[in-house]
Formats: sequence, structure tokens, C-alpha cells
Amino acid sequence: MNHAMTKTPISAIPPAGDVGSLPGELADENGAPAATPAAAQVDMPRIERAVREILSAVGEDPQREGLRDTPARVARMYAELFCGLHDDPRKHLQKFFTEKYDEMVLVRDISFNSMCEHHLLPFTGVAHIGYVPSGKVVGLSKLARVVESVSRRPQVQERMTEQIANLLIDELEVKGVAVVIEATHSCMTIRGVRKPGSVCVTSAMKGIFRSNLSSRSEVMNLIYGDRR
Ligand SMILES: [Zn+2]
Repeated sequence: MNHAMTKTPISAIPPAGDVGSLPGELADENGAPAATPAAAQVDMPRIERAVREILSAVGEDPQREGLRDTPARVARMYAELFCGLHDDPRKHLQKFFTEKYDEMVLVRDISFNSMCEHHLLPFTGVAHIGYVPSGKVVGLSKLARVVESVSRRPQVQERMTEQIANLLIDELEVKGVAVVIEATHSCMTIRGVRKPGSVCVTSAMKGIFRSNLSSRSEVMNLIYGDRR
């Protein structure tokens, strides 16, 4: 898909969509499975014990039939949801192309699931990443991998937004990066203030997107243009 970056107008680049699989399960460039499945780096029996404790503490009987396999199931789930902890997002930005392309690249609507670190409840949404390269251009799917890596861990949306922007600055030395994340937090919809439908939007603008108003409005138009 990298050819899309040289000639195709930016709005024609399709969204990367859901990455679908986990960093722990990803095949490498040659199609070989990745070395370490997420569960191997997680203390599963410890999670199982803790889940049994929680079940007892809320007044349940962890031994009753319906709950007997729950601790093991939850352990596997946490290994999956937090597998980003064992993945260095920088590694996805090491393979770049030297390209004389200095216009904006935008990948819109990269879906993600993360876990709010305050409540350990999911927040889900989409990330939009725009950047202006200064020679180093990455494959579009790599941006989705970065989102996957930083989201699959206990997170807060503000930090996640900032982290993605900083990764592009540090690893690709971009001229500018704009990251906008829109997410629904279940800690706001199913508990606390209980406001279903509320969407939290965060953005990080760096380099020319911070200093240049017209670059900033251009990227915001490309992200939101056809939704207004
Ligand atoms: Zn929360």
C-alpha cells in the first residue's frame, strides 16, 4: 500500500481499520509466528487466584458451576488485553522508506480497545494519525500497530494520544504530527455519572501542526470533513 503515499490524494487513502490480531500473535515480515505469545509473559495462576478472591469478596461462590472456569478465562482475557505491555511500540517504526514526500499522510479511523487504568474498564474508539514526513515514511499498517501496542495496556486516553505523537517524532523525525483520539469510556457509561453516548476527544499537535494554523485546519478538515 505504500505506493499510495506518493501520488494518491490523501483523502483517497483508506482507513487502516481494525488490526484484528494481537502483537503477541502477529506474524513477522516473513510470515513466521511471533516468538512469545502474550500469555507466556503473564502470571496466569496469580490472576486466577485474584479473580476467585474478588468473586468471594462480592458475595459470590467461586466454586459454583457457572463460575468454576471464570478465573482461568479472565486470566486469558487479561493476558490478551494487556499484551501491549510486552510489546515495544517503537519496533513498529524501525522499518521506514526513504521517500521524497513531504505532504501530509493521514490514516483515519484506526479502531482500538484499551483499558482505563483507573477502573480497569474498557474504553474503545478510533485514532486518527496525520504526519508530515521529513524523508522517513512508514507503511500505513505500522501506524495501526503502534496504536495497538500503546492501547493494549492500562491506559488513560490523554497519555495514549501523547505517546503516539511522541513516538512518531522520536522514531521518524517527522516535521509535524497530529493525533486525534475519540473514545467511549465504559467507566463513564456504565458506572459513575452513567452518560451513555458521551465521547471523549483528545488531540496532540506537534511541529508544524502546532505552529501553523493552516496545517492544523487542513488535518482537522481531513479527519472530520465529511462528517460535518
Ligand atoms: Zn475510568
